[in-house]
Amino acid sequence: MDCEQIHRPERCVGCGAPLHEGHEQRTYTARYELDVVPPGEGMKGFVLHQTKHLHREVRCGCGHWTRAKPGRGPAEAEWTVALTEWHLAGPMLVALICSLALRLRLSRARIQEFLHDWLGLALSVATINQCLHEAGRAVAPVVQDELVQAVREAQLLHADETGWKQWGQPVWLWVMTCATATLFVVGRRTREVVQCILGETFGGWLMSDGYAAYRDYTWRLRCLAHIERKARGLKDSLERQARSFGSQVLTVIEQVMAAVYQARSSPPTMPLRIQQAKSLQALLAACIKHAESGHGKTRQLARELLNDWDTFWVVLDHPELPLTNNEAERALRHWVIARRISQGTRTGQGTRAFANLASIIDTCRKRAVSPWPYLAEVLRHRRKGLPAPSLPAPTP
Ligand SMILES: [Zn+2]
Repeated sequence: MDCEQIHRPERCVGCGAPLHEGHEQRTYTARYELDVVPPGEGMKGFVLHQTKHLHREVRCGCGHWTRAKPGRGPAEAEWTVALTEWHLAGPMLVALICSLALRLRLSRARIQEFLHDWLGLALSVATINQCLHEAGRAVAPVVQDELVQAVREAQLLHADETGWKQWGQPVWLWVMTCATATLFVVGRRTREVVQCILGETFGGWLMSDGYAAYRDYTWRLRCLAHIERKARGLKDSLERQARSFGSQVLTVIEQVMAAVYQARSSPPTMPLRIQQAKSLQALLAACIKHAESGHGKTRQLARELLNDWDTFWVVLDHPELPLTNNEAERALRHWVIARRISQGTRTGQGTRAFANLASIIDTCRKRAVSPWPYLAEVLRHRRKGLPAPSLPAPTP
């Protein structure tokens, strides 16, 4: 389906007088836009629209010619991709390409094949790449302002990290996720990344692994499932001391978890700390003993427990807090598969676009809102040089 849209300036830039159709005018430039639009009445599915945009210049009574220019966002040092209505792909088509690349994890070449075979659209891989970078740039202020703020204000935050690749070089993909937001960041230096995201004043509960970068924060939690997995591994070891230490750790973790579940359903008669004091005392002694063990994995587990000793048992005082870091691990899993398919990202801009889009998509999903219309709306605004609309509120 094809149509034409005429753009006229509303006011004279020379004298500020309103302009209307009666004034002398001419088309000074035209551009095509391809977009996915809602189907007409009685129809369902996908409709692809080609719009010819005619940009007029109008002559005011004062003699000045004023142009209705296609929108363009101002230049920003860290982005080479332009944010502009000059681009061929319309906002919903760009959102569709983001969905194919990020949610469906298709490579650029597969997206090209899909658009060609199913929609009869011949877009180059470079254009597809440009769409993804432009969308990533468009949402950047939302990520910087709203998502970082949501994470900093979280009462309970899950953090985790996994390996990522940028142009074949190993870097880290970090995730910070709370009840209403998920933030992804790709970076190198660990401590700085954490401090940069959380700031100096983060005051919520922080569930994380044992990375030293997290130890600056006061209200920390550690994942018990993580230790449980390691203890289970030791229990199956051929080494006698490792086996016995592994089963001791496993027994304590299972007891603690059972006590927490119990306390959640009915208040305990005795505080959990006191209930578990004896077995924790015995485990502490065993950890101290095994911290110098000649068996590598035994020594590592003993030291890991000692390094964060109090943090592991916070749930005994606060049984309402989570026992595991599953929230963060689940948030990373989708992208671990994406990394295996795509070999990561290639450029700094590609990496930032990826992390921004992943953050927006997963936050919308967490809020039970479809990310695609929102993404298209952000592009529509940002291509005109306007601020991005706020993230949709969570669906109750
Ligand atoms: Zn004028």
